[in-house]
Amino acid sequence: MNHEISRLEPGLYFVATPIGTARDITLRALDILASADVIAAEDTRSMRRLLEIHGVRLGDRPLISYHDHSGPKGRAKLLKLLEEGKSVAYGSEAGTPLIADPGYHLAREAMDAGYSVTSAPGPSAIITALTLAGLPTDAFFFAGFLPNAKGARQSALEAVKAVPGTLVFYESPKRVGAMLRDAAKVLGGERSAVVCRELTKKFEEVRRGTLESLAEEIGSDALRGEIVVLVDRPGAENVGEDDLEEAVRQALETMSVRDAAESVAQAFNVHKRKIYQMALKLSSGD
Ligand code: SAM
Repeated sequence: MNHEISRLEPGLYFVATPIGTARDITLRALDILASADVIAAEDTRSMRRLLEIHGVRLGDRPLISYHDHSGPKGRAKLLKLLEEGKSVAYGSEAGTPLIADPGYHLAREAMDAGYSVTSAPGPSAIITALTLAGLPTDAFFFAGFLPNAKGARQSALEAVKAVPGTLVFYESPKRVGAMLRDAAKVLGGERSAVVCRELTKKFEEVRRGTLESLAEEIGSDALRGEIVVLVDRPGAENVGEDDLEEAVRQALETMSVRDAAESVAQAFNVHKRKIYQMALKLSSGD
């Protein structure tokens, strides 16, 4: 396939790459990769392979390795290229750069220095998992990777327990059983949950259940492949009165009693009448 090669405006281009199936790349991403003066990548080998698959010629253009751990020195090299008026395309190993992947420090410094920063959006495991999970998508919270140590993991789960939206976690296939057990303990075993594995790949799998049933089913098995775990928002039985009151108070700052009650009841999946009474009481200053 011929990719449109055109002179790109100088600046930094974050390019999303596939999370599995190689053809899940956008035409614009390929145009940018075909046209940029310089390509930078978290993993130069996988970037080279992607270019080959799609027939994008690297030619004599530099392919530079960049990771946020490359530190200020690695960034300085790319910023210098931007200063010279070059167009620099950056891709992480898979999916969208900056999403549990390098790019944040590079983006920040390029923005602060006044260079143009653009995104060519595309695949991300978060959105793919939300699309397939069958859990509400009106509000969600991406919690990234949980800490490996049990104590720290349980504290991190405690911190997101009352979030009024679907929780999305990235997890290692080795730790998913332990993570589900801790999540059942901290968030409540009856919450609906979904384990998505190998999205967009040959062995794509979506397992649905409760935190408790999935923890039991997976046990201490190490799964294979890449995993996203999603957990439904807390039901009324998991939400403390304090959390509800705080949410109602916040909603009342910008909404009428009726709208605040409706929005909080929907967000926390609790009965509207109960929240309406609470909102009335709080708004009258009792
Ligand atoms: N930047 C990527 C994105 O936009 O999704 C995420 C990179 S992060 C280092 C890698 C993690 O993302 C994996 O450990 C897994 O949790 C999740 N992931 C990436 N690809 C996946 C896939 N095909 N299926 C399931 N999870 C995936």
